[in-house]
Amino acid sequence: MSYKAEYIWIDGTEPSARLRSKTKILADGAELPDWGFDGSSTNQAPGDNSDCVLKPVFSCPDPIRGGAHKLVLCEVYLVDGTPHPTNNRAKLLPIAEQFAEQDSWFGIEQEYTFFQEGRPLGFPAVGFPAPQGPYYCGVGADEVFGREIVEKHLDACIEAGLAVSGINAEVMPGQWEFQIGPAGPVDVADHLWVARWLLYRIAEEFDVAATLDAKPAKGDWNGAGAHTNFSTRAMREGYDAIITACESLGAPGKVEEHIAGYGHGIEERLTGHHETAPHDVYSYGVSDRGASVRIPWQVEVDKKGYIEDRRPNANIDPYNVTRLLVNTCCTALEKAGQV
Ligand code: ADP
Ligand code: MN
Ligand code: MN
Ligand code: MN
Repeated sequence: MSYKAEYIWIDGTEPSARLRSKTKILADGAELPDWGFDGSSTNQAPGDNSDCVLKPVFSCPDPIRGGAHKLVLCEVYLVDGTPHPTNNRAKLLPIAEQFAEQDSWFGIEQEYTFFQEGRPLGFPAVGFPAPQGPYYCGVGADEVFGREIVEKHLDACIEAGLAVSGINAEVMPGQWEFQIGPAGPVDVADHLWVARWLLYRIAEEFDVAATLDAKPAKGDWNGAGAHTNFSTRAMREGYDAIITACESLGAPGKVEEHIAGYGHGIEERLTGHHETAPHDVYSYGVSDRGASVRIPWQVEVDKKGYIEDRRPNANIDPYNVTRLLVNTCCTALEKAGQV
C-alpha cells in the first residue's frame, strides 16, 4: 500500500510569498525524500535553469485526506545545495540555535479576511455593511460570515497536531483570527505556514478565498495584523526582563529593522488609528492597544509573563519576525545578564 504526501513550500512571489503544493505517492512507511519543482513558475528561477529542490523539514497528519496521508512542509534549496534566497527559514535557524538557551516562546495571532466575488464575505454587492462595532467576537447571521469554514479549519489544525490555541471573529465582517502557540521560534512559524495552507485549502471548497492582505478594505475598516506574543524564560520569571525586552525594541536602528521585516504595506496599516501605533514611532505600555508593544495587564499584575508586538502585518513571513525578535531581545537580555 501507499500514502499521499502533500509537499508544501513558500514561493518567490513579490511582495508577499504564496504557498504552493503538489502530491507525491510514497510506499507505506517510506521516508520523505527530497523532491524538485519548476522554479520558473514560482518566481524562484529563470526558465533556462529552472530546477529547485524541496527539502522536507516538518510533517504532520493530513486532516483533509485522512488515513496515513501527510502534509510535508519543505525548505527550498538551489541545486548547488545552498538555501534559496527566498528561504527565510534557513536564515532563522542559526539565530534560534544561538539563543536556544533562553527558551523563546511565541504566540502568533493570524488575522485574515474571507473574500467572495471580489469583496469581503458579508459585504453587500453595492455599498458597505453597517460600521464596525458588532462583528468582533460576534454571534448571529447578521454579524458573522464564514463560521462554517472557520470551524472546519480549527478541527483540521487540531487533527494535524498543530499548536493552535484559539480562534475569534474580528472587527470587520468576514475577518477572523486564529492563534498558533506558544511554541519555539521555528515551530511556531512552521505550524503557522501549514495552518495557512489548510485555511486556503478548506475555504477553496466553499468557493471562498482567504487573504492575508494587511488592509483588505480601504477606509474606516481595521487592517489585518499578526500580533506576535513573545517571551524568554527570564521574561516568564521576572519583570526586569520584560522591560529590557521592550526597551531593546526601541533602540537606535531597531525600529526600522523590525518594520522592514514585518510585512508588505505595513505603513498603510500602522497609521496610529484602528488600534495601531504609527509605524515610525516606537512605544510600549501596559494594556495599551495603541502602542507598538503591549504589556498585557495580567503580566504587570504578576510581574512576569510575555509581551505582545502589535506591529507585524497579517502577510508576514513568520520566520523573519521570530528571527528579528529573538535576535534583538535575546541579545539585549544577554547583555543585561537576564538569561
Ligand atoms: P489578544 O488578547 O491580544 O487577542 P490572543 O489570546 O489572541 O491575545 O493571543 C495570545 C497568544 O499568546 C496565544 O497564542 C497564546 O498562546 C500566546 N502566549 C501565551 N503566553 C505566552 C508566553 N508566555 N509567551 C509567548 N506567547 C504566549
Ligand atoms: Mn487575539
Ligand atoms: Mn485580533
Ligand atoms: Mn493581540
